[in-house]
Amino acid sequence: MTTAIMAAPATHPADLAEGASLAPLTSIRVGGPADWLCSVRSSRAVVVALCWARERGLRVAVVGRGSNLLVADAGFRGMVLRLTGGLAAISVRGGGRLWCGGAASLPRAVQRAAAHGLTGLEFGASIPGTAGGAVAMNAGAHHAELSEVLDWAVVCGAEGRRRVGPQDLELGYRRSSLAPGEVVTAVSFALRAGEPDAIAARLAAFRAHRRATQPQGVRTFGSVFTNPPDDSAGRLLEAAGCKDLRVGEARFSPVHANFIEAGPGCRARDVLELMAEGRRRVAAAGGPTLEPEVRYLDPEHGIVRPPLPG
Ligand SMILES: Cc1cc2nc3c(=O)[nH]c(=O)nc-3n(C[C@H](O)[C@H](O)[C@H](O)COP(=O)(O)OP(=O)(O)OC[C@H]3O[C@@H](n4cnc5c(N)ncnc54)[C@H](O)[C@@H]3O)c2cc1C
Repeated sequence: MTTAIMAAPATHPADLAEGASLAPLTSIRVGGPADWLCSVRSSRAVVVALCWARERGLRVAVVGRGSNLLVADAGFRGMVLRLTGGLAAISVRGGGRLWCGGAASLPRAVQRAAAHGLTGLEFGASIPGTAGGAVAMNAGAHHAELSEVLDWAVVCGAEGRRRVGPQDLELGYRRSSLAPGEVVTAVSFALRAGEPDAIAARLAAFRAHRRATQPQGVRTFGSVFTNPPDDSAGRLLEAAGCKDLRVGEARFSPVHANFIEAGPGCRARDVLELMAEGRRRVAAAGGPTLEPEVRYLDPEHGIVRPPLPG
């Protein structure tokens, strides 16, 4: 389903900062500044900002919670869009629908659903991103993923807004068909009525599993590589001797080898070299070529797969 909603005139975006640091906008807290950082509070403001960037020939990158993102040391020669204000709202609608703005916290959405006895979104309890980022990445955990509960999403481009269904987004394993500069500003989840105690028990079990198996309280960006078919990137990296392996101030976590932890002064270059070394070691041990899950904000090309040296 693709429904055109409206187009917007090109005016000046309201909240625009020049030379803004991006590291604080990411969970790994690494990387340089963007030429422009634009904070937007409505779908209409998103379209206005996209038109403004298009008129100036600027590349655009959307950043959610930055929980799956590595920003280049040189930053970004374009405009970063950040959704805020009313776009972080969450509301329960009739028929088991949960409406979230694109900037809504996924764990908060999970809590809201649970508080209303709605089930289906529990897998997102410990995924520290936004609803928009979860759509872009088709986030998932505990054998469930976003595509299973997505009702529709509103996607903005410079030409206007449109409402799309899951099939329009071609959601696959940690991927969607969203193009650079397409921005998810609202998401509707289709959930089911559930038994509150069972939902609470599932949430507690998922959170306990995280605490027991993943690094806590460190600068990281979630899983570094996707899991190859029928195997786990963490197992392969651990078997190849990568646990606690370091380059500069980046190291593979001693708790879970598919996480990278950043120390003080860590550079994106340290992280990229460490990723490349992990991938080399797994291949040298006879394993598959690991594919990055994390996205990279390149100075000239915007959001891409991380360019791994070697
Ligand atoms: C401790 C930890 C645990 C994690 N566990 C999991 C897990 O179990 N499962 C999992 O899938 N992920 C996990 N992640 C990764 C991450 O949380 C998810 O990928 C999340 O969906 C990213 O959302 P975000 O808002 O942070 O997006 P960002 O990291 O900011 O961006 C990621 C991508 O989404 C795009 N994007 C962000 N917002 C929008 C938007 N509104 N419209 C269009 N595109 C957008 C960006 O342009 C970029 O390409 C984990 C991360 C951490 C730090």
